Amino acid sequence: MIKEHKGRFEEGVKLKFCPNCQSEISRWYLFESTLIKKKYPIQCPQCTQHLYFTAKSLKIAFSLIPILPIVLIVFIVFHVPEKISGLTILVLLFILLTAYPSILQVTDKEEKLF
Ligand SMILES: [Zn+2]
Repeated sequence: MIKEHKGRFEEGVKLKFCPNCQSEISRWYLFESTLIKKKYPIQCPQCTQHLYFTAKSLKIAFSLIPILPIVLIVFIVFHVPEKISGLTILVLLFILLTAYPSILQVTDKEEKLF
């Protein structure tokens, strides 16, 4: 029962698997390689196969980026106190950073964005 639930949950968060060796690519690994080491294409930690993000997932990820400046403009326009706006930006930034590796899907072929 618990196992079944867990399976469904993992399907829901869209775990990433290397198309070459089927090993799992952790969200932290995606986060670390792209944002900290700034490597692209990323490499599979098991078989060193080059992995690209699918065009569809990249488009979704890019569409999240304007959220921050939009929120910032709204705060400035409505004179929201710094304490509230600062905290909201931090929370939003945290949500975006944790959400983004879950959005990205990997593939072994580079896909054209447009
Ligand atoms: Zn692999």
